[in-house]
Amino acid sequence: EREALKAFRDSTPRRADGTIIEIAANLGSLEEIEAALDAGAMGVGLFRTELLFMRHMHLPSEDMQAETYSALAKAFAPYPVIVRTLDIGGDKPISGIEFPEEENPFLGWRGIRMCLDRPDIFKPQLRALLRAAVHGNVKVMLPMVADIEEIRRTRALVETCKTELAAENIAFGDFQLGVMIETPAAVLVAPMLAKESAFFSIGTNDLTQYIMAADRLNPTVARLNDVSNAAVMMAIEMTARAGREAGIMVGMCGEAAGRPDLIPEFIRMGLTELSMSPASIQRAKKCVMDLGK
Ligand code: PEP
Ligand code: MG
Repeated sequence: EREALKAFRDSTPRRADGTIIEIAANLGSLEEIEAALDAGAMGVGLFRTELLFMRHMHLPSEDMQAETYSALAKAFAPYPVIVRTLDIGGDKPISGIEFPEEENPFLGWRGIRMCLDRPDIFKPQLRALLRAAVHGNVKVMLPMVADIEEIRRTRALVETCKTELAAENIAFGDFQLGVMIETPAAVLVAPMLAKESAFFSIGTNDLTQYIMAADRLNPTVARLNDVSNAAVMMAIEMTARAGREAGIMVGMCGEAAGRPDLIPEFIRMGLTELSMSPASIQRAKKCVMDLGK
């Protein structure tokens, strides 16, 4: 089967109306670039930056981050690479960030919440991303967004970073700023978020956990942790509609994006980008192309 799927590596899947459906890769490090390109990835739909922060005994410097994001952008240009800003919480130890003891880290100080409270960590990442934008098609997305203020405050911080970089005579470009839709709150205010975001990317792993109120790591409630639950599918459809009405791209970067049984439904809802582990890419391309037949 794997041999037969290889035929789809270099193809560009399109919807019946001709719209390109971008089949992109989820990556966690530069070492995975090769496999993603080999699989035929049309860019990166989710670059998880956590590993950069977890690998070392200290926080990664702005220069080191700029190098990493630039290398990523160059490897995939002209395709876009969507880099997710640091999505870390009290469930994962990081040297250099002290987390409070929390009873429910998944409902706690993580993702964009932590970053907005810690500009000393967030700004170097945003500056590194602005610098990397010179080298390719960089897009940036925010994890765990729950209200409109989070994107507004981030945008203000990005403007500050640009002013500072300009004053320091450091070359930088611009990036589109989007949000992950992975909290029920974000789904409910998606029409508002869509007016101030360049794109949406649906994170089905967390969205399922939060919509179904079922811990994604707890096997006892695994039954509920399935995207195909009606409530989750409705949330995805609401998000897609809000994006369509505002004219922004809506993609998906949770594990479900690579599921052949659900892809036809996601395409019907209007998603135009699906990002997944490299191993699922060729099957997903075939799946989308079969729809057009
Ligand atoms: C998600 O929540 O669906 C997602 C893509 O992010 P992560 O799995 O890294 O939380
Ligand atoms: Mg998530």
